[in-house]
Amino acid sequence: MVTYRCRHCSTEIGMIPFASVKETIAELQRTDRRFLHETDEGTVEVRCICDQCEQSLREFPEYYTVEKWLQ
Ligand SMILES: [Zn+2]
Repeated sequence: MVTYRCRHCSTEIGMIPFASVKETIAELQRTDRRFLHETDEGTVEVRCICDQCEQSLREFPEYYTVEKWLQ
């Protein structure tokens, strides 16, 4: 399974079955590998952003800057 998880608040956003995994990974590798994270269980986690965090980032962009510093 590929799990979509918010990289800001760790909320699980959703999962997609393995049938679409290859396409998804290929798609993501074209964009940004940093958001791909393989877990010990052999699943792939995609670090993305949930609606809630996206909204707060839009309202408080300085918070995003701070978090980037910490990484
Ligand atoms: Zn979030």
